[in-house]
Amino acid sequence: WCSETIAVVTGANRGIGYEIARQLALHGLNVILTSRDSSNGHEATEVLREEGLNVTFHQLDILDPVSIQLFTGWLQQNYGGIDILVNNAGVNFNLGSDNSVEFAEKVVATNYFGTKSMIESMIPLMKPSALGARIVNVSSRLGRLNGRRNRLGDITLRQQLADEDSLSEELIDRTVNNFLEQVKQGSWASGVWPQMFTDYSVSKLAVNAYTRLTAKTLSNRSDGQKIHINCYCPGWVKTAMTGWAGNIPAEEGADTGVWLALLPSQPVTGIFFAERREISF
Ligand code: NDP
Repeated sequence: WCSETIAVVTGANRGIGYEIARQLALHGLNVILTSRDSSNGHEATEVLREEGLNVTFHQLDILDPVSIQLFTGWLQQNYGGIDILVNNAGVNFNLGSDNSVEFAEKVVATNYFGTKSMIESMIPLMKPSALGARIVNVSSRLGRLNGRRNRLGDITLRQQLADEDSLSEELIDRTVNNFLEQVKQGSWASGVWPQMFTDYSVSKLAVNAYTRLTAKTLSNRSDGQKIHINCYCPGWVKTAMTGWAGNIPAEEGADTGVWLALLPSQPVTGIFFAERREISF
């Protein structure tokens, strides 16, 4: 990795994303710090540049196709491609077990569909390299299929999502859309869906499944064209998202993401990590 290694981080104006951007830049990478709000993004970028880090800002709202398109064009024109994509941008509104239609739609649209749009848009830009390009998705243990305290109540659906042969983009999309439909109808609290932070858990469950699926889809690429995609849970982190109630600082929450982005040899793909260790989906 060197100053010509280009890393894009989404939602990097604050929290874990900011820390991932900072730590990647400390490793000598050329970091593109993106943020949906330009003034917040510029401000965060300036702080890092004043520390002598190689960080450049570009606006990016992962919910806005025009913003993604402009960003893609800008990357292509100025850098020709990227080496690392960290999908960090995310939202969470429910601090209890409520699920308003508005919040559920926003959470699923941002955390799952936004992340998916970024992956689809960035894959064609990922540069060939001996080490392989990297995609890191910041996810959550709350989206685990077999979590002890919080999981899908529908065993058949759980098995279909777990089984490589039945896992498909159509199944993941259908799952989140069924959930949103039930939230609209007020029938979601039937035991089918995770009980805690339900819409958020569903969105991260979809991110995890999509990570595994994309790893499989990309696995037949030849040497030099490889793209390794993994996801990780940062832990319970003191950021705006948790009302600063987490038990670790953002620096620590960023650690596994940065480690995964920079894994020097024997890169893995389609794996879920926490604290630099593989955990089960
Ligand atoms: P923050 O709320 O501090 O940061 C979230 C970031 O995402 C902000 O920069 C926010 O921008 C950005 N964002 C939200 N929507 C969009 C969008 N449409 N387009 C672009 N950027 C967007 O939270 P964290 O740092 O805690 O969260 C980072 C990631 O870590 C998330 O994916 C979250 O789900 C995940 N995570 C966090 C945990 C924790 O304990 N904190 C635990 C497990 C996972 P803006 O400033 O404009 O709102």
